[in-house]
Amino acid sequence: MREPLDKVFRRLIAHTGPISIAQYMAEANAHYYATRDPLGAGGDFVTAPEVSQMFGEMIGIWCADIWARAGRPDVRYVEAGPGRGTLARDALRVMARFGLTPQVHFIEISPVLRAAQAALVPGAQWHESLGRVPEGAPILLVANEFLDALPVRQLVKTPQGWRERMVGVADGAFVPVAGTLPMDAAVPHAIDAPHGTIIETSPAAAASVGEVARMLVRDGGAALIIDYGYMDAQTGSTLQAVRGHAKADPFAAPGEADLTTLVDFAAAAGAATRAGARLLGTAGQGAWLHALGIAARAEALAKAQPAHADAVNEALLRLTAPDQMGTLFQVMGLAAPHWPDGAGF
Ligand code: SAH
Repeated sequence: MREPLDKVFRRLIAHTGPISIAQYMAEANAHYYATRDPLGAGGDFVTAPEVSQMFGEMIGIWCADIWARAGRPDVRYVEAGPGRGTLARDALRVMARFGLTPQVHFIEISPVLRAAQAALVPGAQWHESLGRVPEGAPILLVANEFLDALPVRQLVKTPQGWRERMVGVADGAFVPVAGTLPMDAAVPHAIDAPHGTIIETSPAAAASVGEVARMLVRDGGAALIIDYGYMDAQTGSTLQAVRGHAKADPFAAPGEADLTTLVDFAAAAGAATRAGARLLGTAGQGAWLHALGIAARAEALAKAQPAHADAVNEALLRLTAPDQMGTLFQVMGLAAPHWPDGAGF
C-alpha cells in the first residue's frame, strides 16, 4: 500500500525544509486523481458535462462546424483530462451525425478515470501528456476543467523582497510560509506591491497551452479550452480545495481534496499566440453555449421527455446563468493559422 501523502510531505519538509506550493499542489493532485473518481453526486465536485448531455453536445456541434468549414479533413479528437469520458461521449455522438468520426486520443494520468473513459468511449487511445499524441493529422482538442488542476507557482512580497510561497509545518499542521531565496527575478512584471501581496502564475498551464498551440501549428486543427478564470491580471492566491461539494482548507489533507486555482486566460492566450496559434476568441460559457443553440436543444429535449422538462431547464440555467456557471467559466477558442473561425466567439 502507498504511504499516505501527508507522511511523505512531513518527512520531506523535516529533512529538506519547506516545499514549494507548486510541488505541493502537483503531488497532492497526482495522488488525488490517481486514487478515486472525484466526479458526481457521490464524489467531490460536479463538472459541466456531468450536469447535462447538452454541454458535450454543443462542443460536438462546434467541432463538426469548424471541421466542415475546414474542408472535412481526416482529424483526431484529443481531450485533455476527460474525467469520466462523458463530454467526449456526448460530443462524439453529435459529431457522428455530421459524418465526423475521428480517432480518439485522451490525455489522462488517472488509472481510475481511464477505466471510466474506456467504458464510455470504446476505441480511445491514452497518453500521459500532450506531447505523446502522434503527429501527422489535424486535431480537434478539448480541455474542460483541466488547466485549473495544474500546479501554480506563488510569489509573496516580504520586507526582504519577493520570495517563493512554500509549505512548511508548524504545530503539526501544514502552513504557507515565505521561502528564503530571493525570487525578485521571477516576478513577471515590476509591480510596487505592499508586503503580503501574492502573485500567482501557472507555468504548467502556460506550457500545456503552448504545447496545444504547437500541435495546431504543426498539424492544423482547432481547440476549445474551458475553465473558471479571469481575463485581467490580478494579485492574490486563488488556490482552493473542494471536498464533498464544499470548500475545504487546501493545507488540511493533501491528496484527499481537489486543489484548483482560477485560470489566467490572458496568460493562456499569450502562451498560445506566442507559439503561433490563432486566438479565435474568448467568451463567457453562458453566452457561448447560447450562441451554439443550447436553448433550442433544451426545448427539444424537454418536448421529447416532458417528465424531465424541469430537470432540463434547471441544467440549462446551471450551465448558462450569470450567477451560476455562465460568466465565471470562460471558453477560449484556438486554431491553426490557416483554419477558419469558430462559432460562438
Ligand atoms: N474534463 C472532465 C474532468 C475534469 S477533472 C470534466 O469536465 O468532467 C480534471 C481531469 O484532468 C481529470 O480527468 C484528471 O484525472 C485529469 N488530470 C489532472 N491533472 C492531470 C495531469 N497533470 N495530466 C493529465 N491529466 C490530468
